[in-house]
Amino acid sequence: MNRTCAICKTDKDLNDFYNGGSWFCIKCLKQRSIDDRNALNDRYIKNRIRMITDLGNKEMHYSIIHEMREWIIKCDNLKDQDLRECYRCKYIKPIKSFAKTMNICRRCKYKEKKEREAVQIENLEDTHVKYRIAKVTGLSRHEMHPLLIKEGRSILKRMATYHNHSRLRLCYACNKAKKRNLFAKSICMECTKKRDNETRKVHRDSCSDGYIKSLFCNHGGALRRADIPKGLVDIKKEEILLNRTVKKIKQKEKEK
Ligand SMILES: [Zn+2]
Ligand SMILES: [Zn+2]
Ligand SMILES: [Zn+2]
Repeated sequence: MNRTCAICKTDKDLNDFYNGGSWFCIKCLKQRSIDDRNALNDRYIKNRIRMITDLGNKEMHYSIIHEMREWIIKCDNLKDQDLRECYRCKYIKPIKSFAKTMNICRRCKYKEKKEREAVQIENLEDTHVKYRIAKVTGLSRHEMHPLLIKEGRSILKRMATYHNHSRLRLCYACNKAKKRNLFAKSICMECTKKRDNETRKVHRDSCSDGYIKSLFCNHGGALRRADIPKGLVDIKKEEILLNRTVKKIKQKEKEK
């Protein structure tokens, strides 16, 4: 299928158009943007303003367009000396200290980013909530269910409430506010204990070497885990597993 370009009036393959949806072919569009830049016409100026301000075309007063055109001409003159004026701080700096779009210097760009992030944190916007969720869960942004985002926001809201609280602190595990002296690191004692018990249970159930060694070292004895020989561990393990089997068989007989 072919299409006629509205500028050069020639029939061209669809691949010569952007996304198949444009009236003008890629070659003509590129030429047009070069011509616009050289002529500094309104279309080009408005594009540049949109890059900086997010203003709509109808919101641009002609004085803004005039100011922008003057500024570009000024920058073009400075360019010969490898200099440029920053649109935000109005300082004249070397070209290499400018970001990609060449409108504002890197320092201003960084400031802008920080300001934007501060607003996002202040209002708990989706971007910030998603960033925090990704940090904890490792999910990518499109995998997050709206309910998860909602929950994340309410947790962050609670965290902000207790962030600088004089007496209370929020536990990351149980999400309860507790007195500050009841904490070990960022988790409350109760949750720490629960977590430790769970780990111990896993080791006990699997009869790991670490668990068996700990049986010899407990009760404040002088032995350390490294002192226990492998042979002893194996014998003890066999004994424990045997005892467990016997216990199971006895229990089954009782049930009968
Ligand atoms: Zn064309
Ligand atoms: Zn600047
Ligand atoms: Zn807790």
